[in-house]
This record gives sequence, C-alpha cells and structure tokens, in this order.
Amino acid sequence: MKLGFNEATCMKRSSVGQDLELCEKYGYDYIELRLDMIAEFLKSKSLKDLQNFFASHRIRPFALNSIEDINFRDDRQWRKLLDLFHFGCEVAQAIENPYLIVVPAMGDDMHLKTQREVFDDSTEVLDKLADVARPYGVKLAFEPIGDRRWCVRSLDQALEIVQAVDRPDVGLALDSFNLFLYNRLENIDTIDTVPLEKLFVYHIDDCEDLPLGVVDHCHRLLPGEGVIPLKEISRKLHQKGYGEICSVELFRPEYWDMDPEYVIRTAAEKTQQFL
Ligand code: ZN
Repeated sequence: MKLGFNEATCMKRSSVGQDLELCEKYGYDYIELRLDMIAEFLKSKSLKDLQNFFASHRIRPFALNSIEDINFRDDRQWRKLLDLFHFGCEVAQAIENPYLIVVPAMGDDMHLKTQREVFDDSTEVLDKLADVARPYGVKLAFEPIGDRRWCVRSLDQALEIVQAVDRPDVGLALDSFNLFLYNRLENIDTIDTVPLEKLFVYHIDDCEDLPLGVVDHCHRLLPGEGVIPLKEISRKLHQKGYGEICSVELFRPEYWDMDPEYVIRTAAEKTQQFL
C-alpha cells in the first residue's frame, strides 16, 4: 500500500501549506486534505497555488475530508450540505483529487432509526450526491463509524448500502479505528467480503485498550501503539489485491499539541510496517 496522511492528525497546529511541505519531506505518497483547512488556506492563497504545489512535487491529493451528516437532512440542512459538497467537488476537480469522504449522520437519536430507514435514506442520498459529483469526475467513499451515535456503524451495513447503490463512483472508506469502535473487530472477516473495486480508501489508526462505551476518537493512537490487529488487516487488504492509500488519521488531542513535524515524521515511521 502507499503511505498517506490525513490532515485531521495535526489539524490544531498545522495548515495545508505546512502539511504539504512536511508530508513531501517525509516521503508520503498521498495526502487527504480537509475542507475546513482548505477554506482557511484560500483566505490568503488560491486554488492555483494549490495546483502549482502539486505540479512541482511528488505527493498527490487522494481524498478530501469530509462531507458529514449526510442522512435525514431537512431542506435547509440539505442546501447547506450541497454548498459544501459543491465546494469540495470544485477543489477536487481543480487539483485532480479523485475521492471525497462522505460520513453518515451523527446524533443522540440515531440509534432509534431502524436499519430499513437508514438503508433507504443512505442509498437515496448517496445516489443524489454521486449525481452531483459525476460532472466533476469525483467519486464518493462512504465511511461507517462504529459508535452508536452514527447511523451507519458496521462494515456489513455500509457494504450493503454501497452495493445497493451499485455505481462505480460510490464505494467505501475503511477505517481501522471505526471498525474497532463497532465491536472491537469481532467481525474482522467482513473485510474479506468487500470487493476490491468497492474499497476506495483505507484509514489506519490504532487504539487504546478501553471498553466499548468508553473508547472514542480521542483514544486513537499511532499505528502499532495500541490493540487493533493492524497486521491482520494489512494481510487481508494485501490478499484482496488492495495497493492504494493507507492513510494515518488521528484525532488525538495529545498529538494536536505536539510539533506537527514530529508527528508527521513519527507517523511515517510507525506506519511503514503496515504498508
Ligand atoms: Zn477515517
């Protein structure tokens, strides 16, 4: 697999410009830029500056993060989501970034939705968004998030949705932490059932050994420092023939406080063994 960096990892102390320079320096193949950080970047720079950077460097953009809360939107919320979605598509097209990460809705009432309601809404929304993205040449990577606050939690559920949508521009983002968050990866073999052509993005992160119900995104750890069977996941992905992005995506406040250069360098070293 190829080494990727997701900008969430250093987002509190870094910037698009700094992440790009440091990721290039430490040998990353890909970067996943964040839409909020791009918006910040564009306050003083232009899309042309971003294009120029990629034209003169080795690192490539891979997936933009992220369009969140896509389900059960009312008209006002949907219009707001579409504004951000169009912005993401425009940026993606301008810098030849192939994927946009889309995330199911989150809320304290989400566990009250039936599987049927979630399935129907997700298939409809993903189809609509993919129609919007198509003229831009952008594909959607749908990422299940294991915690009960999100409406699509398991890999099985997300795969069923994506297969029902049944279009080549809609696939999955698989995230080792989010899979672990569902049931500590008791269903790890589900990874084997994901067709290669539906696996668009892989986010790699480790996790502290904490019980479900306690463990949350702030407990993500650098690959190899926690209890997620990352070697086993890598083996399964290799077996499938997946050779694309393996992207470090951490939301750990402790890392946010550290020097971004230290985190980016260390993350590259730690992730190497799982590629
Ligand atoms: Zn992720």
